[in-house]
Amino acid sequence: MGNQIELLIDLQVIDRDLRVRSEAIASLRAGVEEIEARMAAERATLAACDSERTPLDTRRREIEAILADASSKMTERRMRLNRIRTEKEAAAIHREIEVAKEETEELEEELIGDQGLYALLKTLNERATELQEAIDKLQTERDTEHARVEVEATEIADTMGADQERRESVASGLEAALRKRYETIFERRRGLAVVEIEDGACVGCHMSIAPQMANEIRRNESVIACPSCHRILYLKPSEPESQERA
Ligand SMILES: [Zn+2]
Repeated sequence: MGNQIELLIDLQVIDRDLRVRSEAIASLRAGVEEIEARMAAERATLAACDSERTPLDTRRREIEAILADASSKMTERRMRLNRIRTEKEAAAIHREIEVAKEETEELEEELIGDQGLYALLKTLNERATELQEAIDKLQTERDTEHARVEVEATEIADTMGADQERRESVASGLEAALRKRYETIFERRRGLAVVEIEDGACVGCHMSIAPQMANEIRRNESVIACPSCHRILYLKPSEPESQERA
């Protein structure tokens, strides 16, 4: 068991060191992710702007088509006016012209009024352009930052390879169940799975360890966990508890 504890202590030193570097890489990448999140938010706003714009634009085209049609009919009527012979016919065409004008006036108002489609679409188009520019700017910022960060991250990662191999070689000396147990605690306890007993207490959680349990740990016959935080406990074999206290 003593050998197993020593391996765990060695492994934890390597793992803590690797963890510091992994966290450094993660925090570098978090900066890029933050920009990506801002981009996603701008894209969502742009999509909302587009979905507001689409039906208005459809309606604009519809009205423009109706007005174009009305305009050619109006031309036709005016040509007919030039050819008519009776007052009665002229009056009928004039009435038709009046009715048609009223019909088109409302549609024109829908297009060109203060709250008309042209004004609304202009505002939305400007908004969409602004959003697209903001997105493009963020994309450039993101790409630059990503390139910079990946250089640094790669430099850090390159220093980790040898330690990862060393870690595997140390870990391979552990019993499978113990290794799994250690790795679970290491993750759960943020990089502190194996702790010393100092002044009769667990260094991980400061809970007092019963002398009987401390003696058991000193005998090194089995792997014993802190009853409170479940970290694996050890005593430095060369330094009995009584000397540590002195
Ligand atoms: Zn503890």
